[in-house]
Amino acid sequence: ASAHDSAPVAKQPPKRPLRIVAVASGKGGVGKSTVSANLAIALARAGRKVGLVDADIYGPSQPRLMASEGERPQARDKKLIPVATRFGVPMLSMGHLAEPGQAIAWRGPMAGNALAQLIDANWGDVDTLVVDLPPGTGDVQLTMIQRFKPAGAVIVSTPQDLALMDAARAVGFFDKASVPVIGVVENMSGYACPHCGETSEPFGRGGAEASAHEMGHPFLGRIPLTIDIRTRSDAGEPPAAEDGAAAEPFVTIAAQVGA
Ligand code: ADP
Repeated sequence: ASAHDSAPVAKQPPKRPLRIVAVASGKGGVGKSTVSANLAIALARAGRKVGLVDADIYGPSQPRLMASEGERPQARDKKLIPVATRFGVPMLSMGHLAEPGQAIAWRGPMAGNALAQLIDANWGDVDTLVVDLPPGTGDVQLTMIQRFKPAGAVIVSTPQDLALMDAARAVGFFDKASVPVIGVVENMSGYACPHCGETSEPFGRGGAEASAHEMGHPFLGRIPLTIDIRTRSDAGEPPAAEDGAAAEPFVTIAAQVGA
């Protein structure tokens, strides 16, 4: 036990509940983690007190994205203390609960309990928690809506039909649970060739906007497919952390999520 455990605790006003924003997708690989990290950073740069939870049990990628690989959260009063990042966004990841490089095979209640440890942590003055959910609609999502009901959900999809069908299922899941869908983001939308300057559309374009409107939910914006986003993500240098064109789509999305 640390010295903090026995220190007298001043009477504090009751804490406001955290505003949880869940970031979800119908399937993996569409950029849900990329959007979560950059959304959290853009919200923090807009003046919010933001924390980031990486609840992706299948492939926790936030430690890499947020340049906090190898960090280990401490605990106080049986609660985890989030890891500080250089982006002003404290975070906790499923990856922090496992040995580095170790595959996590949590199922059912264990996955739910792990999520609870990450959310019910010592978040301090954080008022908004961005939660990067695993893809699909499994145990973690169920625990999330039963125990820590989000204030809203952001759904990430790529523009092709198959991804959109999966995204629609994710939207349906939150609709059924009465979690407000803040809106749909179209990621990997259009590729501007750095050599010839021409834009091509490997996955199509505009599909997510159309299906968001069909489902009666807002469309939050599109993020282009760029080499820059991929290399910066791999390097732990999220585009939203710097001014410039690469940050713009995330700033636009954050403005609507933070409203
Ligand atoms: P998910 O969380 O949905 O599985 P990730 O955010 O991990 O997806 O993204 C999957 C891969 O695609 C990562 O290598 C990421 O860097 C890359 N990626 C995501 N969005 C873009 C984008 N707009 N442009 C280029 N690469 C991207």
